[in-house]
Amino acid sequence: MLYGLSQIGYIVASVCFILALHWMNTPATARNGVYAGVAGTAIAILVTWAEPAVIHHLWIIGAIAAGFLVGIPLSRVPLTAVPQRTALSHAFGGLAAGLVGTAEYYLQVGEGGTSLTAFRMSALIAEVLLGYLTFTGSIMAAGKLQEVKWIPQRPVTYPMQNLINLLLFGIAIALAAALVMYPTAVWALVVFPVIIGLSLLFGVLLIIPIGGADMPTVIAILNSYAGLSAVAMGFVLDNKLLITAGALDGSSGLILAIIMCKAMNRSFTNVLFGAFGQVQQAKGTGEQKVYKSETPEGAAQILEQSSLVVVIPGYGMAVAQAQHKVRELYDQLKKRGITVKFAIHPVAGRMPGHMNVLLAEADIPYTDLVEMEDINRDMPQCDVALVVGANDVVNPAARTDKTSPIYGMPIIEADKARTVFAIKRSKSPGFAGIDNELYFADRTWMLFGDAKAVIGELVKELAGSGMH
Ligand code: NAP
Repeated sequence: MLYGLSQIGYIVASVCFILALHWMNTPATARNGVYAGVAGTAIAILVTWAEPAVIHHLWIIGAIAAGFLVGIPLSRVPLTAVPQRTALSHAFGGLAAGLVGTAEYYLQVGEGGTSLTAFRMSALIAEVLLGYLTFTGSIMAAGKLQEVKWIPQRPVTYPMQNLINLLLFGIAIALAAALVMYPTAVWALVVFPVIIGLSLLFGVLLIIPIGGADMPTVIAILNSYAGLSAVAMGFVLDNKLLITAGALDGSSGLILAIIMCKAMNRSFTNVLFGAFGQVQQAKGTGEQKVYKSETPEGAAQILEQSSLVVVIPGYGMAVAQAQHKVRELYDQLKKRGITVKFAIHPVAGRMPGHMNVLLAEADIPYTDLVEMEDINRDMPQCDVALVVGANDVVNPAARTDKTSPIYGMPIIEADKARTVFAIKRSKSPGFAGIDNELYFADRTWMLFGDAKAVIGELVKELAGSGMH
């Protein structure tokens, strides 16, 4: 009876997790997705807690309290620090899986080891390997993103790096195979910690050759490792919910990593072995290119006469926290019957969905957020493309310059609009460290300044002219 109830509880939790992922598909339902995920986790914990085999309740209460203690401050980090916060969550997930696998191994060995069949032992070793690797890998990734001093930002490479990694991996697999065959041998008790040590080392070795630039993609990959580790844990503990939740986690992490690679025109192997993210050499052509500047007053006049305005937000909007001013500008333009759309590049900003989150915070209707492929069809009819702190995602070099590090990356085709206004503070390049031809184009006018301040000026101009 109790078993049946717990199985139903697990099915309900699984449904919650699937709905959570499904609702994350669009900004309109994303909040529900979060609630469904929380509900699924709460049900899973309660159902497991209610099992008769659980007798040490104080430990569970202690673990939940510790979770809150760490989780509450983690939830308060600013949006720009969410990538490293996410990496820390994966680190904890990986560590939990690794520790559960370790405890289970020694527990079973203590009880004679009869339950350590070849299948269970293989799952246990996969869990431990992936769990500890995710732990140190994610700590390194979080450290690189947070730019902590003791972790080098630049990719660290040395001769025969991949060969050495492969050799260590071979040793780990050989030791793992021996353990699967003789899980209770006396030497096995020593080999097990060696495997733990190797997987902790792997986590570090896998991350050091990867530059800060690729960290968000790597975090998605580590997410998928943590998920696979949970699947293996599900097999070890014979827990179906862990298998389902881990598989969802593992596959969604992998899909996200693939989407990000595509959006940056990078291959998976290129991210993992490419040592990308080294500081790019800005190409000096020698000639001084000339920017044309416009005043907020002049820009406001052109905006007022437009019928279609496309706002292209980027990392600079996040830095300036300009989203609420952007909302005011949106209101001013809409009041005049002007169509305003937001062009969302999948890797604008510094994390997936960065722009969606900011614009949602400012209550901009989701229906006016348009994905890159769709908005690009409208760009030739667009009267004004207003670039708000975006750079790489509107750089035409991605289409035209084969030598550019971003060549082949899909971009928002701002250069096809009749007029381009670009807001940024200075002449410095964006994330990829390269010049942007868009800013020197005939149809482009720069609005130099902090995005929040410049948009504020535009709003003031429009509000003023509306009173006449
Ligand atoms: P970007 O290329 O980094 O350019 C941002 C621009 O914003 C800069 O040129 C900067 O110029 C300007 N800016 C900064 N602070 C500003 C402020 N307060 N006011 C106005 N402007 C400001 O950004 P992006 O076009 O969004 O492209 C994102 C880049 O990040 C891509 O290269 C992408 O591959 C990479 N990336 C994204 C993700 C992701 O998941 N989204 C992950 C990894 C890498 P000034 O300094 O002159 O103001």
